Amino acid sequence: MDLLEYQGKQLFARHGLRVSSGRAVTSSEEAVQAAAEVGYPVVVKAQVLIGGRGKAGGVKLAADESEVREHASNILGMDIHGHTVRTVWIEHASDIASEYYASVLLDRSAKQPLVMFSVEGGVDIEEVAEQTPEKLIRHHVDPLAGLSREEAVAIATSGGADADVVEGVADALLALYEVWLEEDATLTEINPLIVTPEREVRALDAKVSLDGNALYRHPENQALSDAENEDPIERRAKEEGVQYVKLDGDIGILGNGAGLVMSTLDVVARAGGSPANFLDAGGGSDAEKIKQAVRLILANDAVKAVLFNIFGGITRCDEVATGLIAAFEEIEPSVPFVVRLDGTNDAEGRRLLQEAALPNVHAAATMNEAAAKVVALAGSRSAEAPA
Ligand code: GDP
Ligand code: MN
Repeated sequence: MDLLEYQGKQLFARHGLRVSSGRAVTSSEEAVQAAAEVGYPVVVKAQVLIGGRGKAGGVKLAADESEVREHASNILGMDIHGHTVRTVWIEHASDIASEYYASVLLDRSAKQPLVMFSVEGGVDIEEVAEQTPEKLIRHHVDPLAGLSREEAVAIATSGGADADVVEGVADALLALYEVWLEEDATLTEINPLIVTPEREVRALDAKVSLDGNALYRHPENQALSDAENEDPIERRAKEEGVQYVKLDGDIGILGNGAGLVMSTLDVVARAGGSPANFLDAGGGSDAEKIKQAVRLILANDAVKAVLFNIFGGITRCDEVATGLIAAFEEIEPSVPFVVRLDGTNDAEGRRLLQEAALPNVHAAATMNEAAAKVVALAGSRSAEAPA
């Protein structure tokens, strides 16, 4: 569960990490009022769950009321890489002497938390990691001992932080680690972590992902998952009790059972396709369940073709086919479906589908065949689409 910058900063502040004071607003009138409260100059910042807002024109300095109004009205409603801006954050602008980078995440292969720090902040950190890896300090932490002040100071020093702010950077790293640990975050990142001309160290940006499965331990964070920072289709799926995860591709994947769905994603990727989602229809095979799943998949406009992969066990393929036929009569999907039925009563299921002769539904006997078919269908549809 990703947080918006201002929500991340609220968590930071709770753990003693320095941030600028600000207000989240949704209209330019409110922005003007907020700016008066936090004091000029201010920075007007788009609140969307995607980086690179600055480059996209979603971060603007404003010296007075008319500039705040202008920037806020330009940024509200702006599309930043597919994310519409509904909220802007108005914060008192900082003077910047240096821009550093800091993050904490779990390094799964090392089975340890990883603290990263660089004095080359404010830029794309992947670039730093690639071109000048020696400038990105990577320090693994013993999860039982935690991050000590000595370690934090050593990270800041070896990373090349200015001598007079080593202690300030160490404080920031310790606080960032505390947020990561105590809030059950999977990632806490600050880019840039700035040094002001007064030599204060402060988080100018915040990227925080919380572990959704640990939210029950943090009732105060539950409200953060609401509203704008959730994909609307994912939210709908959650309300309907369906396992659905949005991905970035154009092939809808529907299967029964998480294991089967995951392997379907792999097989489609190997066939050269790119899944648009992860949808587990679970054990249900009745028309209602299938209708619900098909509707969710088709709610995503990016979907050009759908792979329906069923392995019958307790779930019988003939029941699934009946459900599918009933669902299709009502929904009449506009994109092609490839259906692979295997397992209990598969022959009967395929016979039912064939008899129903649903338009735009293609049967496949194996997973590989189904994947190849769906990738070809999605590909030909993107070729047809106007540029
Ligand atoms: P991102 O582009 O989405 O990572 O958004 P950031 O919050 O990191 O802001 C982008 C850039 O805007 C930062 O790297 C800073 O250079 C600049 N910026 C943001 N806030 C301020 C501020 O208060 N003062 C100044 N001078 N620049 C700022
Ligand atoms: Mn940033």
